[in-house]
Amino acid sequence: MNLRKLPLAATAVAMMISTVAVGPATAQGSGERLYPNLGSNDYDVRSYDVAYGYKPGTTLMNSSVDIKALATRSLSSFSLDAVAKQVSAVSVNGLPAEYKLDNGKEKLDITPKLPLLRGLPFRVRIAFTADRSLQPKAPQFPEQAHFEHWIPANDGFALLGQPDRSHLFFPMNDIPSDKAVVTFRVTVPSDLQAVAGGTLRSKKTVGGRTTYVYTTRDPIPTDVAQLAVGHFTEIKARGPHGLPVRSYVDTPQAKAAKTRVDLIPGQLRWVEEQLGTRYPFETYGVLGIRPELNVALESATLSMFTAGYLAIPETTGVAVMVHELVHQYFGNAVSVRSWDDMWLSEGHASYYGGLYASTNGGPSFEDFVKRAYDFDLENRPVYGPPGRPADTIDVLGGTNAGGAVMLYGLSKQVGPKTFRQIEHTFIERYRNKSATTQDYIDVANQVSGKDLTAYITSWIYAKTTPELPS
Ligand SMILES: [Zn+2]
Repeated sequence: MNLRKLPLAATAVAMMISTVAVGPATAQGSGERLYPNLGSNDYDVRSYDVAYGYKPGTTLMNSSVDIKALATRSLSSFSLDAVAKQVSAVSVNGLPAEYKLDNGKEKLDITPKLPLLRGLPFRVRIAFTADRSLQPKAPQFPEQAHFEHWIPANDGFALLGQPDRSHLFFPMNDIPSDKAVVTFRVTVPSDLQAVAGGTLRSKKTVGGRTTYVYTTRDPIPTDVAQLAVGHFTEIKARGPHGLPVRSYVDTPQAKAAKTRVDLIPGQLRWVEEQLGTRYPFETYGVLGIRPELNVALESATLSMFTAGYLAIPETTGVAVMVHELVHQYFGNAVSVRSWDDMWLSEGHASYYGGLYASTNGGPSFEDFVKRAYDFDLENRPVYGPPGRPADTIDVLGGTNAGGAVMLYGLSKQVGPKTFRQIEHTFIERYRNKSATTQDYIDVANQVSGKDLTAYITSWIYAKTTPELPS
């Protein structure tokens, strides 16, 4: 994500809970340090197939989700992260299941008729009513940092789930390590459109209502699932190697946005060259939504910006466009194992965003690094080190600067050629998987033949900002 105005950080109260494995195998959490109630390691989701019926004038949507998952241990019950108006039916492997929705705990507890066996796939079907007015804040999220997650936009809505709010959209395992293929099938009045990450597979109109079906080719983390309903104009282009590029911009601003949207194929080529590896998904593009939110999000295959930002006629000052594009590699194709690894995503996105801007009419890269260093120096005592954010909101903006300066120093130490090889190797090794800080250190050490552990860990975990790498 990129927050143009960094919000104030609140004091952290990091709660830890411990769960003990017991015989009956009831539901357990995922062990996330910052979000102890979020997610589960009891199963591994392979795909979500979500259906919404959108109607103007109400925040309620008749909805369903079909989940295909694999049990990682034998289970008599399990939980999904969920917030909804109501759940009206749940089945597991085709048999009706007992269930309890608790919007206070943000959980849907499910007890299947037959226990789930370790290592075997299972299928859950949930019929529910989504309510776009239900938007509980993340735990410990500071009062002054208000985000809407179901963003009212373009006579419809768009999604902003990062880091831990995507389960407001549909029941899911809302942790970045459990990636899944996501399908949205959305029925809207025919004068509106639905756009989503991945590729449009079908579009059918019956009786004045149109159903759009989009599916991602690859598994994506839940925090970057994107779907928007509204009035959009599609802008098509070709990226490197014939990559289909499609963007959807708020119709009144689409013409003005063309100058910046037309930069995308060149940005894709630039990023591929820097990272020495092809863009990881089947398509790319941007979503331009109407409200001015001071926020951009790396939605998988469809980065979200405000249309006003895209409509600025200048082709300079577009570091944020490259920032969100680089997240498609770092954060989306290679997701973070836990939110304590978020610098892997934000540090890389910020580093290459700054580097691109320096070759494109922006400040010099040394200036960018100096500003990032000063930012880290000032904010690390409050935000915590990049690998140990103090508070839930620091995940969104507190790891960018420290991560980027670490990468700058790393590239100085090993040289640009080896640095590129580290980046390339890391992406190739963890593409469509999740990775930890230790995984990155291991790759850096192996590729460079040096022990860079002390250098990297000082930047990622030290309470005070290390020396500026020379
Ligand atoms: Zn970001």
